[in-house]
Amino acid sequence: MNSTRPDPLDTWLTPEQLAFRRDVRDFFAEGQVRKSIDALQDHAPREESGLLDVYRQLGERGWLAAAWPEQYGGLGLGPVEAGIVLEEMVLHGVPEDQHVLSIDTVGQFLLEVGTPEQRARHLPRLARGEEIATVLFTEPHCGSDLAALRTAAVPDGDGWRLSGRKIFNQKSQFAEWALCAARTGEGPVKYHGITLFLLPLRSPGVVISPVWSMGDERFNEIVVEDVRLTAEHVVGRVDEGWQPINDMLLLERTGMDFQAKLRRWLDAVVADARRSGRITDPAYAQRLAELDAKLTAGRALAWNMVRARLAGTPDPVASAASKWFVTQQSDAVVRLGADVMGLDGLLTTWDGEAPDLGRLEAVYRQSPAHTLASGTSEVMLQIIAAQGLELFS
Ligand SMILES: Cc1cc2nc3c(=O)[nH]c(=O)nc-3n(C[C@H](O)[C@H](O)[C@H](O)COP(=O)(O)OP(=O)(O)OC[C@H]3O[C@@H](n4cnc5c(N)ncnc54)[C@H](O)[C@@H]3O)c2cc1C
Repeated sequence: MNSTRPDPLDTWLTPEQLAFRRDVRDFFAEGQVRKSIDALQDHAPREESGLLDVYRQLGERGWLAAAWPEQYGGLGLGPVEAGIVLEEMVLHGVPEDQHVLSIDTVGQFLLEVGTPEQRARHLPRLARGEEIATVLFTEPHCGSDLAALRTAAVPDGDGWRLSGRKIFNQKSQFAEWALCAARTGEGPVKYHGITLFLLPLRSPGVVISPVWSMGDERFNEIVVEDVRLTAEHVVGRVDEGWQPINDMLLLERTGMDFQAKLRRWLDAVVADARRSGRITDPAYAQRLAELDAKLTAGRALAWNMVRARLAGTPDPVASAASKWFVTQQSDAVVRLGADVMGLDGLLTTWDGEAPDLGRLEAVYRQSPAHTLASGTSEVMLQIIAAQGLELFS
């Protein structure tokens, strides 16, 4: 973002939070850290890293999970500091997916409903960036309608035997553990009888295979066959996993990571428009300005979610609106990028001569995923219609 512009966020951050943000920005400007981030670009397309050096560097300072208590590897700070780290991470080009999965989802879940043993075992390793955890919710026949899941854990003595098929999960090839939603009870209401388990992914009976999409990032399909689990693997209450799943998705949907990623992309488009001289063409200038205004609004919505969390009043409707609004801008940002770069923008990393390492071509293919991940745009609109406008009551 243009650093000479006043940042509206400055007006409500405390002096300590402003100082924290400066420290985080300084950290990302350090040579060693920049080197770790730049090294991520050396991967060939469709190759990705497991544990990231930059996550470990953040973890050493307690910043990867800044809001977690110190005993679990955090700093005992709040959602504002956590938001600052996430926003700065993404603005500086650090992949956020592992953070979203390991810290914001699995870790946060353990923090809220895990047992003391589960927290002690998993949280410090996640907070230090030494371990990755992933999320196994989506199945081949259900994503949006998650309560229709068929992966089942059937009682077996003092435990269960888990079998099923999960798809579109990410980073599972690197993860030790997954938070897996499974059916443990049948009843007239499909939202009852769902339980969350911590599934050890290196168990016999777990087979992980890649699923490729139009983007470069790898999805996985996981087939689980007859894996024995006990009470120590249960997260939260047996048969009552639905409510925490909803609470967790609400936390995940601040729109913070999406808005920061789009801002980074738009900044790259502006830089390119400047290089090519197209910035002076009023037609381009108007589109750039319009997107700048929309992303500024999207950022305000995302930070409002952080404020709501700080006040202890998370709002599912506002959260759905934030996620919907921000991700709706993805397509316009990448299309503008393609228009500004012209045919050069179609060159890929494989071509070897692509400007900016073929990043535009790669993000062009990646962008449609934004309106699907963490709940699709249609599902967000449905939440707004049903819970916000009360249209179906
Ligand atoms: C980048 C990315 C990362 C992901 N990471 C994970 C992960 O780590 N773990 C995991 O378990 N899953 C993950 N997913 C899967 C994701 O949660 C699902 O793709 C998403 O929930 C949609 O489910 P689906 O793909 O089955 O599509 P469907 O639910 O089948 O939807 C297909 C289309 O129908 C529309 N639709 C569905 N229901 C309605 C309705 N009631 N009204 C109107 N329209 C509707 C949808 O909006 C969509 O356009 C990831 C997905 C992406 C893109």
